Amino acid sequence: MRECFEIRDTDAGGRIGRLTVPRADVTVETPALLPVINPNLDTISPRRLAEEFGAEILITNSYIVYGTDDVRERALADGLHDLLDFPGAIMTDSGSFQLAEYGEIDVTTEEILEFQYEIGSDIGTPVDIPTPPDVSRERAEAELETTQERLEIAETVDTGDMLVNAPVQGSTYPDLREDAGRHADATDLDVFPVGAVVPLMNDYRYDDVVDVVAGAKRGLGADAPVHLFGAGHPMMFALGVAMGCDLFDSAAYALYARDDRYLTVSGTHHLEDLDYLPCSCPVCTEYSPEELRALDDERREEELAAHNLHVTFAEIRRIKQAIRTGNLLELVEERARAHPTMLDGYRTLLDHADQLERTDPVSKGSFFYVSNESARRPEVVRHHRRLERLSVPDSLFLTEGKPTRGDEFDESWRVEAPFGPFPRALSKSYPLTAEVPDRTDHAALRAAADGIRRLVEANPETEFALGHRGWPEDVLETVPERVDSIDFEADEE
Ligand SMILES: [Zn+2]
Repeated sequence: MRECFEIRDTDAGGRIGRLTVPRADVTVETPALLPVINPNLDTISPRRLAEEFGAEILITNSYIVYGTDDVRERALADGLHDLLDFPGAIMTDSGSFQLAEYGEIDVTTEEILEFQYEIGSDIGTPVDIPTPPDVSRERAEAELETTQERLEIAETVDTGDMLVNAPVQGSTYPDLREDAGRHADATDLDVFPVGAVVPLMNDYRYDDVVDVVAGAKRGLGADAPVHLFGAGHPMMFALGVAMGCDLFDSAAYALYARDDRYLTVSGTHHLEDLDYLPCSCPVCTEYSPEELRALDDERREEELAAHNLHVTFAEIRRIKQAIRTGNLLELVEERARAHPTMLDGYRTLLDHADQLERTDPVSKGSFFYVSNESARRPEVVRHHRRLERLSVPDSLFLTEGKPTRGDEFDESWRVEAPFGPFPRALSKSYPLTAEVPDRTDHAALRAAADGIRRLVEANPETEFALGHRGWPEDVLETVPERVDSIDFEADEE
């Protein structure tokens, strides 16, 4: 177990954890949001972030502190906590972002880590190479090698009890991300940002974000705290958490406010286009859209930033509650409806259902089948795998209805979409207690038929029959031919 991170609760790939930050003498509950603070201008003061919004941790850029003479002197003399007036934990970035934007920076990993330590950062960052998406494999590999050398240098720098980030790069090559994750995990560094995903998010490539993070997660140990670096829109937090990310940083709350943009969990609105404010935060209950528009620029920016933060923190709390309740994936499904690209992200997440299944609790409160994607959830994957291990009698009737042919068979099992068959004794156990719509869909039937196929193939000696309610021909084709099937609906007609 990694000393600084303890996992308390899980749901799908998501978890509630405790990140101990010794230098700040603070324990941060994750998933956590780190508001980004520009040391040269703060829209919302760090003190207010802590007191009004409950921020336990924030992130600021040590390279900007380093490069701004008066700020640097004050940071060195008084420390970052005094400079920013923030009582929680402070993470510092290294200037890698500037490196990606402007091509070069004039500081080495040793220098910037020592500087971060000297100004009192609680979690520091080496200078990694944020390789953009879609570059050649040669370039991705070469830059990853440099990042890995920097991590090895970072291990040798004396940083006392400051935690140190070990960024995971590898561009859009999931296998390189996996290697990078494995390498980072083997260092004695502490927190693992998945880097350079911002260009993917800017292009709404949530499917690629999921593949990249899934790769990194395969390489990292299950106990590694993971930061989805640069993911600040609340719309995608649930998806990010379900993938297994624990930390998110938001510059979006302030950047969007500067452009009069209003965040919601299902997208962004321009203040100009709003006739009503769909939110009950203090800002939205005090002002109408017209009143907000009438404020002077500075004031309007501050009020919009406050709203954006309220929405962002509320979503983090909602996600934590969903993990506790065991319905994180229901929340992800809801968010996935906000935009087709988010749905792509969720569908890609389900491509990794096997990976999620490992941390998904065996028992939860409820399984709601709310879309055809539900048919591919980790619970269904697990049930199908389990079917291959269940012991079966010599003859078995699988039925959606009453065991009408029960007498002819040794046993009769229930069939429920999307899970497929199961012994009646299991019908009170999760996830077979699922709430499923009466008007079932094709994906659920396909999944149920697939479960039957797996059970039948695992038991070649057993005689099977299936009683179903009007399954379409293409679904029945999934069921092995040797299974005799009866359509109850056809019988009733
Ligand atoms: Zn609001």
